[in-house]
Amino acid sequence: MPINFPGGVYPPNKKFTNKKYISELTPAAKVYIPVVQHVGKPAKICVKEGDYVKIGALLASADGAVSANIFSSVSGKVVGIENRQTSNGEVAHIVIENDFTDQTEFLPRLTNPTREEILKRIADCGIVGMGGAGFPTAAKLDVPKDDKIDTLIINGAECEPYITSDHRIMLEYPEQILKGAKYIATALNVSNIIIGVEDNKDDAIETLNKIINLKNYTDIKVVSLKTKYPQGAEKQLIYSLTKRVVPACELPFKVGVVVNNIHTALSVYYAVWEGQPLYRRVVTVSGGAVKNKGNYWVRLGTAYKDILNECKAVNLHENIKIIQDSIREKQAQIDKLSKSQSKQIKQLKSEIKNLKKELDYIKTAQCVMIVNGGPMMGEAAKSIEEAVTATTSSVLFLTRQEINNISPSQCINCRKCAVVCPMKLMPMFIDLACIAGDWENAKKYGAVDCILCGCCSYICPAKRDLVSSMKKSKRMIAKRGI
Ligand code: SF4
Ligand code: SF4
Repeated sequence: MPINFPGGVYPPNKKFTNKKYISELTPAAKVYIPVVQHVGKPAKICVKEGDYVKIGALLASADGAVSANIFSSVSGKVVGIENRQTSNGEVAHIVIENDFTDQTEFLPRLTNPTREEILKRIADCGIVGMGGAGFPTAAKLDVPKDDKIDTLIINGAECEPYITSDHRIMLEYPEQILKGAKYIATALNVSNIIIGVEDNKDDAIETLNKIINLKNYTDIKVVSLKTKYPQGAEKQLIYSLTKRVVPACELPFKVGVVVNNIHTALSVYYAVWEGQPLYRRVVTVSGGAVKNKGNYWVRLGTAYKDILNECKAVNLHENIKIIQDSIREKQAQIDKLSKSQSKQIKQLKSEIKNLKKELDYIKTAQCVMIVNGGPMMGEAAKSIEEAVTATTSSVLFLTRQEINNISPSQCINCRKCAVVCPMKLMPMFIDLACIAGDWENAKKYGAVDCILCGCCSYICPAKRDLVSSMKKSKRMIAKRGI
């Protein structure tokens, strides 16, 4: 019986890139590095315009325990510090002009590190949760003394459609992931590591098990999970693997568990063994508007417009204009020709026909939305100027056909949203409370416990944007201290 949790949905997986080897995306001429790539306080900028920095140079230092150091992802000159729009509002960015010499400034390797050395290295290297949450890892591992942790879970359940970066990492960097997991376990002082992987990634399970057997890692177990969304959500994963229920408004350490993502484990390995601060990550670039879909090592701070150019995403307002102009030009040429020049007219007409075909193709393949993360929990980007951060597991360039454009209608009280909700909430009642601005009732129906997985919106036949209601309710409840 596959290991499972209550609720959830089965969106089409659209994993177009699960067979694509990870390659390096050509670094951009300029990177735009935000000082907030994590949950918590923005880091404090410690460079100025004109400074020369190498890869791994500290650009902004953590401001308090729940914050993270930020590093340069290229070598070159700081050419600006500017506020730029992101999907989370306006954030200060450090702009660096790449000199393409790739000089590095890494830390020395730690051999046989102690628990304290590992924790310090993780903090020094700015490691944060790379599955999307962005919680600073050193703070997560600093568990209150009274809470006894007995299990470390490494989350390999990459359940969002399209995204394959963790899957590829498990196939291509298994040894490094396992070593990273062991460093985290040392930091937590636990000897029970469970790696949860969905059963649509049998090859990853096999690859990890091969290394575990070869190295005789008796403290690590790989467990196959049912492929279902949101299997990778923290509370659902803990339930599936341990049958422990994290109480409402509590964190996993309350049930003796800490969860870290696969990519976080890899980054911990790089921090401890290679001395590398967090300056790059693997990103799935996909969606119907992308020609060169794939999994890429991307330098943090790379703007979506540079990914778009590199991966040949079709964002073709400009190209549409060029083709339309060309059609007009050829038509004008035809108008000037006399009937006796039928051969040229025929040739021009055929060219116009081909251009119109191309125009039709471009209109259907054109990117109408860029999403940071997956289609269920990701954020729509405000502009192509936004940049990849430590939590960007994928950048999707989606066409009109791929996004749900149908307008919402009245709730028909079918209760499908309640059936699929993995947190056992009544999303339709929270939606109503949100519309009425009744935040007390929104709280009463459990808005605070919502994990924003998007299952309710996905299943709703009335196409109600329930996730937006959940987000708004959570925000208002927090703001009003209800
Ligand atoms: S109410 Fe929240 S937790 Fe429940 S399905 Fe909707 S988004 Fe997911
Ligand atoms: S799934 Fe949609 S239509 Fe059905 S009860 Fe929930 S909100 Fe209403």
